[in-house]
Amino acid sequence: MTLRDAYVGIKKPIRVVRAERCETCGGSGAKPGTSAATCKTCGGAGQVRSQRGFFMMAQTCPTCRGEGTVMSSPCSSCRGAGAVEKASTITIKIPPGVREGTSLRISGAGQAGFRGGAPGDLFVVVHVGRDKHFIREGDDLYVEEHISIPQASLGCEKPVDTMEEPVTIKIPPGTQSGALFRLRDRGMPRLEGRGQGDLFVKAIVDIAKDLTSKQRELLREFAKSLGEDPGQYDESVLKKIFGRG
Ligand SMILES: [Zn+2]
Ligand SMILES: [Zn+2]
Repeated sequence: MTLRDAYVGIKKPIRVVRAERCETCGGSGAKPGTSAATCKTCGGAGQVRSQRGFFMMAQTCPTCRGEGTVMSSPCSSCRGAGAVEKASTITIKIPPGVREGTSLRISGAGQAGFRGGAPGDLFVVVHVGRDKHFIREGDDLYVEEHISIPQASLGCEKPVDTMEEPVTIKIPPGTQSGALFRLRDRGMPRLEGRGQGDLFVKAIVDIAKDLTSKQRELLREFAKSLGEDPGQYDESVLKKIFGRG
């Protein structure tokens, strides 16, 4: 499933191959209209005793394999097992907040019980794929947001994606590349307990490139205002170093 599926929680059909109760005999293993008879070898005890020297040994009855009863006429559908292997598609409900490797226990959806007994449980291991946009750390999410040098220096308002509607955050003047902004309760729902994790927005300042000559001129002006030596930005010097102006 995707990270977004894990955020909202989904219903998902899955295919399972399992032993299901035999419909012909209702799980008893006996041909309909007949019933199991007491084992003659052990008299229903499931064990046989034998004398060995001074010792009395008890062994599992070889005739009924310890069950105490034998099938006089076994059910033809299941050959007396009470269950048949079947492939079924069942729809499971995956709660919000599951993580990679979360094991879900679905009570009563496992193999049929012995001779019509209660069925076991089904365990489903969840795999959550990576998202292109959001990185998950526990219940917190991280997302990168690119801003320009003027936006970082002067400050701006920036809409950022969340798992729901976008939220506008305030980027304060002088924001450095890599600065983290925290949006509380915008992370993943907590599987155990209430609430949600946080969403961290990482500001990435993009260095301007492929500038026009006008933009280069403005940057030189800016450098001059910082008191930098204008000679180092001389077009002919730059051309010598980098092969272009
Ligand atoms: Zn049967
Ligand atoms: Zn027996």
